Amino acid sequence: MISMPFEYSRATSLDDALAKLAATGGDGKLIAGGHSLVPLMKLRLSEPKILIDIARIPGLSGIREKDGRIEIGAGTVHHDVAASALLRRVCPALAECAAQIGDPQVRNRGTLGGSLAHADPSADYPAVALALDAEIHMKGAKGWRAVKASDFFQGLFTVNLAADEIISAVTFAPVKSAAYAKLHQRASHFAIVGVAAALEVKNHVIQSARIGLTGASSHATRLTGVEQALEGKPASAQSIDAAARHAGAHLEDINADIHASAEYRRAMIQVFTQRALKGALARVG
Ligand SMILES: Cc1cc2nc3c(=O)[nH]c(=O)nc-3n(C[C@H](O)[C@H](O)[C@H](O)COP(=O)(O)OP(=O)(O)OC[C@H]3O[C@@H](n4cnc5c(N)ncnc54)[C@H](O)[C@@H]3O)c2cc1C
Repeated sequence: MISMPFEYSRATSLDDALAKLAATGGDGKLIAGGHSLVPLMKLRLSEPKILIDIARIPGLSGIREKDGRIEIGAGTVHHDVAASALLRRVCPALAECAAQIGDPQVRNRGTLGGSLAHADPSADYPAVALALDAEIHMKGAKGWRAVKASDFFQGLFTVNLAADEIISAVTFAPVKSAAYAKLHQRASHFAIVGVAAALEVKNHVIQSARIGLTGASSHATRLTGVEQALEGKPASAQSIDAAARHAGAHLEDINADIHASAEYRRAMIQVFTQRALKGALARVG
């Protein structure tokens, strides 16, 4: 299908984009990579009258190390996250996740900010953002604010982001001992079940675990039961197998669609929780 007609305007800075967005009086939408918005427009599920292109705003993309934390600009495309030598060194789970998104075309156009704002229930980044305890930074008419990933994903395609706000960057403390594992749809590569796990291990004992799950329910969520079951346990495959056995048991709204039944997804949550945790354990220094 063909989208409804729209006007197009390219923003030159974050403030320019905010001003242009405000001037549309609610009829405008930001476009970054367009790989979620354009399909929606073609299906006429979204009919913005004005598109404000933020893809070429200087400084909105890039991966930097800042005060011991990593900052990734919202406009950074998936390919750059996947190929980042810095991320592969200090936080390989995120590069590993980005490398598994879609196909080369999607990875060369789609952006981190667009993926988080859109919050598809099968998107990959949300699981890793939860496992890394990332902060999402945004600017709106009322100024800057930052939201923890655990408070950001609120429901189906629903996030803690106002219509007049723009995500500028994502920050997190890098975790080497983290991994992402997913069962993907064969055609699109979206997650049927995707699990990101980050472990903190000291003297062969798991001090803490953070586990993010995507694809299984209406929005990405933490597997807090498994996290708690791992705390204080020996850093071993046996501890992981025992804790992962209950992964997702508390989830009531498991997705069911043409790709997988709820029962199958429930079984795969356990399998991919085990795989992500064992991947993270293998990276413990
Ligand atoms: C064939 C195909 C396969 C795909 N496979 C996968 C996959 O395997 N895994 C996966 O995770 N994703 C997948 N995707 C989705 C892809 O990653 C998208 O690129 C991503 O979800 C959206 O990023 P974007 O930059 O394209 O956003 P856009 O489509 O430009 O925008 C999406 C939404 O976010 C808003 N937005 C964009 N940037 C910002 C910002 N900085 N601040 C606030 N709001 C913003 C827009 O207004 C819009 O509402 C796939 C897409 C396609 C078409």
